[in-house]
Amino acid sequence: SQFVCFIIITYFMFIFGELIRPLPRSLPNDILSLHIATRLRTDPNSIKTASSDYGNLVQENPIAVLYPSSIDDIVTLIKFANNCSTPFSISARGHGHSVRGQAMARDGVVVDMSTLSENGIGIRVSSNWNPSLGYYYADVGGEQLWIQVLRAALEHGLAPVSWTDYLYLTVGGTLSNAGISGQSFLHGPQISNVLELDVITGKGDFVTCSPNRNPELFFGVLGGLGQFGIITRARIILEKAPTTRAKWVRLIYSDFSAFTRDQEHLISSNAPNYVEGILITNENTTNEWRSSFSSPSRQSDIVSLLKKQGILYAIELVKYYDNQSANTIDKEFQKLLKELNFIPEIIFSTDVTLFDFLNRLGNLEDQKRPLESHPWLHLFVPKSRVSDFNDVALTTILPKLNETSGVFLFFPFNRKKWDNRMSAVIPEDEEDIFYMLALLHSCPPNQYHILDELNNEIVRLCEKAGIKTKQYLASYESQQEWINNYGSKWKTIRERKEKFDPKRILSPGQRIFNSF
Ligand code: FAD
Repeated sequence: SQFVCFIIITYFMFIFGELIRPLPRSLPNDILSLHIATRLRTDPNSIKTASSDYGNLVQENPIAVLYPSSIDDIVTLIKFANNCSTPFSISARGHGHSVRGQAMARDGVVVDMSTLSENGIGIRVSSNWNPSLGYYYADVGGEQLWIQVLRAALEHGLAPVSWTDYLYLTVGGTLSNAGISGQSFLHGPQISNVLELDVITGKGDFVTCSPNRNPELFFGVLGGLGQFGIITRARIILEKAPTTRAKWVRLIYSDFSAFTRDQEHLISSNAPNYVEGILITNENTTNEWRSSFSSPSRQSDIVSLLKKQGILYAIELVKYYDNQSANTIDKEFQKLLKELNFIPEIIFSTDVTLFDFLNRLGNLEDQKRPLESHPWLHLFVPKSRVSDFNDVALTTILPKLNETSGVFLFFPFNRKKWDNRMSAVIPEDEEDIFYMLALLHSCPPNQYHILDELNNEIVRLCEKAGIKTKQYLASYESQQEWINNYGSKWKTIRERKEKFDPKRILSPGQRIFNSF
């Protein structure tokens, strides 16, 4: 009867296309006859780097690491994997800033995209105004860091419009997720600001795609978690930024509903260029990552208020201005602030160049990294349930974060700036606004499970209260959890996988179609 059960289960797994492919234990020997053999490394250093990431939570060893010298090297590797009797898995590694092994490939090959920066397409800024297109743009290698894109664009008096908080992430890596920050309410996530892509599919085909040319691949790859292809070039929208500066304030709230009401007001007004909300659970929250407002006396006000209130909220608000608007910026800002209900006695304010604002976190690649783990949680929450979310989840969990360190964000997005044809997942209701809770924990490696338990508790509390959240930068143990997170998009995701990576070679570290 066990045999019959096995046959029935296997049959249904095939029928529903949900078969999770096991991985081979080693690579076929004839890989050494390929021209890329000299760029495939198996030395301990290469393996160690490719088997770790920013999160410091997962370790999965690949058999080899490819350091491509050209796009053709990657094509060769993927085609070879497709033709093996048991295909091996391949993962592009951008800058390895996933936190749960998403860019790893156990028993497969990790493609270290960084070596393409020597011979790849680099960054080509197109600074001639093209009226028929209506945009400036740059063609950028998937391996490029956003900080490099910013520097190159500014040389032409231009800049991308949509960002992540941290710029030492690759273009291919963030476009595989969404790429979100305080500009997303206005311009959409980074995936909404791409005109065209070059992609190597899981079959090894090199394809140029855009909304009009191979649209299924274009929309699939954006937010596609590396499942359908490797991005080797992205055409990114730029705007003029010749003398732009950023007037930047942090406003403090003690009341959650005033905090969310004002964020919604700000993003509906379209007046600011950047809006992010921060949950302040202890005095460290405002120091870490965000030391831009150096005002010790204000900081001590926060500490005493925090003692009284237990938790505070902050809105960070930025308005860009240039030489022409320098005379009016203060007036405009005052007008904006008059409409808000923050605690008037404590305003943090600064004025910096556009570059300094966008690069406010600097480069976090320091020696601390191996000493810390980052069990992060990113949850999209429907606007209509935000108050319930606060009552059932935040008020239970946030006091427990008093003793922990990290940055905790809560800020809104406009749904209409997201394109539902893309693979990225957001709440399925039709409300115009949704929020993101980001719990960016840092902890000693042996304590990550305590914070993961808190993360899981939030998810459980939401499920119990019927709050339909979606995870961003998600990581799951089972395919069923992925199916739940994708919801109505799952069918499309499965079809795209079948079409562009039928042998389930790409990005096994996401654990959507491959199990470890
Ligand atoms: P990797 O971790 O190397 O790869 C991530 C995934 O993308 C993997 O599945 C990989 O196989 C795939 N991939 C990589 N390159 C390519 C490519 N060229 N083509 C196709 N697939 C590819 N995210 C935000 O949205 N907003 C933020 O503000 C933000 N801030 C962050 C701050 C820090 C300090 C860190 C560590 C992460 C932050 N992130 C943020 C998350 C970040 O965007 C993702 O983790 C992103 O994947 C990191 O880029 P990476 O180049 O390191 O990708």
